[in-house]
Amino acid sequence: MPIRPFRWLPHNHKRHAVDADLVPRDETRTLCGEELVIPTTPCTKDQWCWPTCTECDARWRTAEGILPFPRRSTPTPHPRRPVPTTAKAHAR
Ligand SMILES: [Zn+2]
Repeated sequence: MPIRPFRWLPHNHKRHAVDADLVPRDETRTLCGEELVIPTTPCTKDQWCWPTCTECDARWRTAEGILPFPRRSTPTPHPRRPVPTTAKAHAR
């Protein structure tokens, strides 16, 4: 079952998550429940620097089945890749 994709959208001084398939002028709701209209102009760099909405972040993670925090309670441990130990700085 495919997961509905989301994307970040700066709104009201926070970066909220909205459905990815929305187009400008669509009326929608952020994942945290704020109503907004998709802006027609691209977001500014400043807007992308706004803090992430924690509520949206949490709901996004829930929707995608990601644990809220990187806990060490995963049933199967990650296989460790061998680390190259002899990294000689040959300038070739
Ligand atoms: Zn939000």
